[in-house]
Amino acid sequence: MTTLEILFTPGDIETAVARLAREIERDYREKQPLLLGVLKGCFVFMADLVRALDMPLETEFIHLSSYGRGRAATSGRVRVVHGLRAGIKGRHVLVVEDIVDSGTTLDFILGYLRRRGAASVRVCALFSKEASRRVPVPVDYLGLSVPDCFVVGYGLDYDERFRYLRGLYRLKEDG
Ligand code: 5GP
Ligand code: MG
Repeated sequence: MTTLEILFTPGDIETAVARLAREIERDYREKQPLLLGVLKGCFVFMADLVRALDMPLETEFIHLSSYGRGRAATSGRVRVVHGLRAGIKGRHVLVVEDIVDSGTTLDFILGYLRRRGAASVRVCALFSKEASRRVPVPVDYLGLSVPDCFVVGYGLDYDERFRYLRGLYRLKEDG
């Protein structure tokens, strides 16, 4: 049986998003940054973050996918499903990630962006599992730390389920 245990309420997440927005505004106010969301998981966070930000910015998305499904998806190799359409040369790019786990995906993205000549690249992640890191990656703006477990909600899925939940939950499979 699958059960969900709440880790962060919608209120906890809202507070974290507001704090991140103030930090990003402080550093990017004059820079017209390009917020680059990593699909699919980022879409809920991205929508709340851009509305919390009070400054000029642009948005773009890349769609990456790991091989494998369910929990196995986080440990797979990274594949580009839909890449950048426009150039990012000279742009200040802020990568918007739902969650950083092993660091494999983020490490891939940072290499992908550096090859395309961005003026600067930083990372904003709403959730991070520091204890699960296998590749060291910088997270410049971090929302909330999550223990080493599988989580769903607020855009994060388990085989496409649970993305719509407004809080963040630990997924437990009993039996
Ligand atoms: P990483 O490459 O850092 O191991 O994992 C990155 C991606 O795997 C995240 O962007 C996210 O899409 C997915 N992922 C990692 N941990 C979790 C988790 O606990 N729950 C869900 N639903 N997805 C996760
Ligand atoms: Mg993701």
